[in-house]
Amino acid sequence: MRTRLDHLVTTALQQGSAVPAFTCYDFTTALAVVGAAEDAGRGVILLVAPKTAATPNGLRLIAALRGLADAACVPVAIQLDHASDPDVMADAVAAGADSVLADGSSLPYEDNIALVVAARALLGADVVLEAELGGLAGDEDRAFGADSAGVAVAGLTDSAQVEDFVARTGAQLLAVAVGNVHGKYKREPQLRWDVLQDIAVRTHIPLVLHGASGIPAGELVKAAAMNVGKVNFNTELRTGVLSTLQEQLPGHRADGENLQGLLGHWNSSAREFAGSALGMLTR
Ligand SMILES: [Zn+2]
Repeated sequence: MRTRLDHLVTTALQQGSAVPAFTCYDFTTALAVVGAAEDAGRGVILLVAPKTAATPNGLRLIAALRGLADAACVPVAIQLDHASDPDVMADAVAAGADSVLADGSSLPYEDNIALVVAARALLGADVVLEAELGGLAGDEDRAFGADSAGVAVAGLTDSAQVEDFVARTGAQLLAVAVGNVHGKYKREPQLRWDVLQDIAVRTHIPLVLHGASGIPAGELVKAAAMNVGKVNFNTELRTGVLSTLQEQLPGHRADGENLQGLLGHWNSSAREFAGSALGMLTR
């Protein structure tokens, strides 16, 4: 069923839980994620990568996700992830996305604010906006090992900017950089709880943790207590699906080119991962 992403996240936080968000490059994965959410009786967020939304086929995928979300028996929100191009934002919302991460985190501070303000003016009041303060190392779509000790620390969210940033952008959720990175962690990630706590006391809007793949479950569970209400997963989901496909491909090729059977394994792998993430973040 349709839901506002901010309401979904706030409601979960009131129960001590966070809502997982999963990058869906394709419909098979999205079906698996929604199936896992229905099994768990929990809401979920489908993320669409900006590179996906920048193509005509990607916009058709968003329209298909809209249909999937509306027909689900649990709340499902669809968010355009990490967008900085206004045309892509507008197209994605027109196609059915109900939330956008207006990401100016790589820009100077004032330009970051201006990007979010412009996104609000463009998209109107009904679209839920996430903004990002602090830089995340690594590539969202490809799992290069990112150096969580070096690069990410340089881009930690400056908690002194949080109040001003949230007030001036009007963002409804705030993505933070607290030692988390996109892609695979080269070593055990060290989340900066001191920075996260400092951020959490300066704003009431829910915080968002990107790059959760590889962060131990025990750490993620603690995050909800620091007002982290949305946790983004991408790399681990892809790792699981690709391993499953690699294992299953020869047998299914031999079994009369059984693509349908192979897709079933794809679905099971993604569904299992999404189910475990939902369980991990639920109190
Ligand atoms: Zn991200």
